[in-house]
Amino acid sequence: MSIVRHTKVKDTASPYDGDWIYGSSRVSKHPGVKKEVGKLLRRQKDNCTRCGLNFRLRELIDFNRIVPKSEGGGDTYKKKQVLHRHCHDSKTAEELKAVKH
Ligand SMILES: [Zn+2]
Repeated sequence: MSIVRHTKVKDTASPYDGDWIYGSSRVSKHPGVKKEVGKLLRRQKDNCTRCGLNFRLRELIDFNRIVPKSEGGGDTYKKKQVLHRHCHDSKTAEELKAVKH
């Protein structure tokens, strides 16, 4: 029996919101960022949905399904999010742990 887990997108108000974001270069506006990634970044206000911190240009950004495919997640834009590479890794590790039980 598998455990049904849904990772909600947190509505985080980070203490760094505001001046800090606008004073730095926004990753979503960077010309090197892919269109789809930029869209997600804007929706997420340039924040990682897992740790709530801003993406920086040099950080690795990963696509991720909010709900794993095994739990009915799809490939549509609304069901995707962008995460830091390291956040994605720890999310995947948690999902694998949950599946093993
Ligand atoms: Zn993160």
